[in-house]
Amino acid sequence: MLRSQTALWAALSALAGLAGGCQQADRARIDRDLIGEVMMGSEFAENLRAIAQPGGRVSGSPNAHAAERYVADKLREYGLANVHLEPFEMMSWYDRSTVVTVLDEPPCLLAQATGLGNTLSTPPEGVTAEVLDMGAGGEEQFEEASGQLPGKYALVSDGGASRRQKAAWAVRYGAAGLIVHSRPGREVLIGNGHAEPHALPVVVIGADDGAALVQRLSAGERVRLNVTIDAESWLARPNNVVGEIPGMGSLANEVVILGAHLDSWHLAEGAIDNANGAATVLETARALARVEWRPRRTLRFILFMGEEHGLRGSQAYVQAHAAELDDIVAVVNVDMPGAPRQFGTCGHPEIVDFLKSVQEALPAYEISPDVGNSTGFWSDHAPFMRAGVCAVYLSGELGPGAKYYHTARDTYDQVDRRQTVQSAAVFAVLLRRLADCPERPSARFDPVGLQAEMGW
Ligand SMILES: [Zn+2]
Repeated sequence: MLRSQTALWAALSALAGLAGGCQQADRARIDRDLIGEVMMGSEFAENLRAIAQPGGRVSGSPNAHAAERYVADKLREYGLANVHLEPFEMMSWYDRSTVVTVLDEPPCLLAQATGLGNTLSTPPEGVTAEVLDMGAGGEEQFEEASGQLPGKYALVSDGGASRRQKAAWAVRYGAAGLIVHSRPGREVLIGNGHAEPHALPVVVIGADDGAALVQRLSAGERVRLNVTIDAESWLARPNNVVGEIPGMGSLANEVVILGAHLDSWHLAEGAIDNANGAATVLETARALARVEWRPRRTLRFILFMGEEHGLRGSQAYVQAHAAELDDIVAVVNVDMPGAPRQFGTCGHPEIVDFLKSVQEALPAYEISPDVGNSTGFWSDHAPFMRAGVCAVYLSGELGPGAKYYHTARDTYDQVDRRQTVQSAAVFAVLLRRLADCPERPSARFDPVGLQAEMGW
């Protein structure tokens, strides 16, 4: 009896082993199919061109709405389920023109200038005031200059404290406005100026113009500037775009999210930041929907709006789906992808071994064996992270075009398409494995405890 029972167990385990082996072989085949699908059937470049080339996608603008429709149509075409738009409200902004003129001899128009996000228009004649060189524009420098600054432009270099912080100090110390000069060798880089719409002119000028102003001021010259900004600020109603590959079986209620922001600044095409990421999400979704496979967990693809104006779309999503956050196994955020180089987590060490196993399964991709950890709030993973959800990223090498993000040179031709498409293959394998692994590799942390611990 004992002997036959042992034999039976042995036979059963052998069968189970065979089945397990088959399953493993099956899954390895799916991963190979996913990589092959991306490498041979990629629509990445075509989608990138279609999203980027109509021009910047400021949330709530006609271009941005056209991009929302484009990605929704593509997700439907690829066979995804539950494709829909989720509207939300936010203040949107762009500047039609920003002109900075030096009035004193020799007078000149600065070559490049852009208003920073949320700066309201000046009167049509602009705002004229003297300039004070404030160096790097740290809090101490503002305090020291507090007697001389009222009614003058504070000229500061980029770097150190954030521009938004420097703008807040300029308001507090009664400046006429804030002029940020770019770092040497860098283009004029747009970003946010005021936390809320505000009339104090906050602009960025080129590095050479900045250096010339600093030189004149240090020689004791009196320099007056006229800044004229024509900006639009309005209550916009953009849409996050969502589509799914539904899971099958008992784990189908658990969700793995792959997301990227679709909006951009208006200066150029927003190709590197982040039509690139949006096209990567589309390509990953296309490959996963195309291979013969159904995930255990549900895969959800989200193209967020409102990222550049302060993560508005992802914040709205987390707020609207607060009751479902426990079921999110991981949110994988794609912001400015390139050649895949390193997986990372945002403060969730429990998922590190899982990410290492994915890296080990993809030796040809030159991904670092070390898993990164970043708790910065730079993109759409942040609202999820603050809510305790496990966030994951894959950092990439973007090539020489990387430095043009947020500038007037962020165009389709700057994207290294051949390298970036590799990220879509890696994301496809990562998502397939997150969707299929029997044990959930992540946990949702208590957001209140987490916020206290991390000092958020
Ligand atoms: Zn971005």
